[in-house]
Amino acid sequence: MSPSYLKRLAVFCSILAITGCGTTSSKNSGESTGVVINVNPKLSVIQGPASAAVEVRKQPISILVLHHTASSLPSALETLQGRNKGHTVGVHYLVSAELPQARIFRMCPDSLAAFHAGKSAWGKFDSLNQSSLGIEIVNYDGNVNPYPKPQVEAVLALAQYLVATHQISPENVVAHSDIAVGRKIDPGSLFPWEYFAANGVGAWPDTKDVQAFRILLKSKKLSNAAIQQLLRTYGYRLDDNSDKTLGLALESFQRHFRGSKVDGVADDETVALLQALVKKYRSAPPKVASPARSGKV
Ligand SMILES: [Zn+2]
Repeated sequence: MSPSYLKRLAVFCSILAITGCGTTSSKNSGESTGVVINVNPKLSVIQGPASAAVEVRKQPISILVLHHTASSLPSALETLQGRNKGHTVGVHYLVSAELPQARIFRMCPDSLAAFHAGKSAWGKFDSLNQSSLGIEIVNYDGNVNPYPKPQVEAVLALAQYLVATHQISPENVVAHSDIAVGRKIDPGSLFPWEYFAANGVGAWPDTKDVQAFRILLKSKKLSNAAIQQLLRTYGYRLDDNSDKTLGLALESFQRHFRGSKVDGVADDETVALLQALVKKYRSAPPKVASPARSGKV
């Protein structure tokens, strides 16, 4: 895509944004209808072509799943429109990697379920297409290629909006690799999860808890069974109790929370991060004593 084309498209889109035009079509791109939805001052969404693989939503939205496309923007658009035979996928949003400004395409309304999760599980949820929203982020491999800043900011603004709109809890903002252990590696270890959490999207452990757990682990290691239990408590689905499955689940966990080293080994840092997350997000809230009767009704 040439810079001059992008410039023309940007001008075209900004005119639409200013005038609030109705439906029109972008003749030469095939990428979108050209309609810009200004959700808020930080968030403009372009109505993209309809995603092919969608169905009626029968469950409320509880989870937000992030992906990388493993392809270019044109290829992702083709695939999501069902033009790539053998690939039946859909998604709600697609975010480009363009500079200086990433674009956000809406491929189907949140009210529909899209086929982006595949065989998946998280906590009490199974087959997450029905209970989730999906964002595809253009990147060939987020374990290798850093996400450019404009794209990060676009995904963050979109995720902030979706989390607030649908009341999605922090621990339910997940990577595809979190919900498909041993099967998926996206959006990859270079995705800036800590930055997202610092800006109100997704979970992150408290540093002081991690440090405290690391000190405890120096004198007493946890058994594999205890680590499996912690992973399951946090949300990961381990299909069996084998060492192989434990290693794969730890890889998924590290890809999200310790991206600098993804090796599936239960070292103290990894286990302490996991303990701190369970403490922060999965511990039962303290029981509140019944207030004394005041006589008021
Ligand atoms: Zn994915």
